[in-house]
Amino acid sequence: MSRLRLYDTLSGRKETFRALAPPRVNMFVCGPTVQSAMHLGHARTYIFFDALARYLGHLGYDVFYLMNITDIDEKITSAAAGAGEDPLEYARHMTSSLKEDFRMLNIETVSKFEPVSEHVDEAIRQTRLLLEKGFAYQAGGWVYFDTAKFSRWGRLSHQTKKDLALRPLELSPAKRNLNDFGLWRPEMLVEGRWASPWGLGSPGWHIQDTAVTIPLLGPQYDIHGGAYELVYPHHEAEMAEAESLSGVRPFVRHWVHTNLLKTEGAKMSKSMGNAVTVKEALKSFSADEIRLFFLSIHYRKEAGLTGLDAAQKRLRKMRVMARKFARVEEMPGPSLGEFGRALDDDFDTPRALRWAEATLMAASKHADRDKARRMAAPAVAGMKVLGVDLFEDS
Ligand SMILES: [Zn+2]
Repeated sequence: MSRLRLYDTLSGRKETFRALAPPRVNMFVCGPTVQSAMHLGHARTYIFFDALARYLGHLGYDVFYLMNITDIDEKITSAAAGAGEDPLEYARHMTSSLKEDFRMLNIETVSKFEPVSEHVDEAIRQTRLLLEKGFAYQAGGWVYFDTAKFSRWGRLSHQTKKDLALRPLELSPAKRNLNDFGLWRPEMLVEGRWASPWGLGSPGWHIQDTAVTIPLLGPQYDIHGGAYELVYPHHEAEMAEAESLSGVRPFVRHWVHTNLLKTEGAKMSKSMGNAVTVKEALKSFSADEIRLFFLSIHYRKEAGLTGLDAAQKRLRKMRVMARKFARVEEMPGPSLGEFGRALDDDFDTPRALRWAEATLMAASKHADRDKARRMAAPAVAGMKVLGVDLFEDS
């Protein structure tokens, strides 16, 4: 059994990782809305989940990592209009650019990318089923999910009824409750192009995800990941949809969320205009440097960009020390010593990196070469598991 413990957003504490059907692990992470080039805020999230998938693989799990590509969204429609392109065509270009950024950052673990525009039939099927089961209603051309029918609404984001009342969703006089959200949106939106029993329109954001996951992963799976800002309403809504559709609870075993990347105190986002794209960052820093930088901050802490130069120096130093041993053998088996123990404790990569650095330092000063190599091996192997190769120049 694994000793890995991960903080679970739903329970609010660290939980021992238990796969539903080992050795298989089904992991779904929300992919980006492909409206413009990928920025470092995204990179943080995807580097973390790539490192987690690599570690699960190292522990002997067979990870199926699914990511959706949000290619239906009004932000895409307006960006496409600006570029003089068809929205879906535009989204396809941006998806290729995203996959290229993933390759450049050595994000290699995603098993399958699924554009949501190819799952609209399933979104319609789920919406119809929610209507039949009484969890949804039609109003003003929309189909809404009725949050009053779902007793666990607010549970994932740990909000009381009072908190929720302060955070109404999708304001409309036709809605029954303030937090009800759209499952089907009418043609008023430019990208509305799909025929449905409720007229031309498009699926709401949240059902786009369950439309991708339920057919491929079933009504229940192991890990659902994403950026922390997606907890409410996006993931809260997904949980409500999935559990209402299947009656199976919990929808996912482990809810894992990464914290924000901020620049000068503000969240990095395209709308704030403070986003550094991955392609820009890769002009000054290597993939390994960017990976080391993000992994040197715990995934649940807020990050800034001030440490990137320091990460570059840190990696150079670690490589100089590691190279004193020529190529050390990787440690056989799942034991990475103290490095692994740090990862097992809610994926504490900063602690693992500190240990690797100190171990390489101590080993490089050791008089006995063989002993020094054995000492350094778990540090080098651990770094490799995280996708940072100390013997490669990049
Ligand atoms: Zn999503």
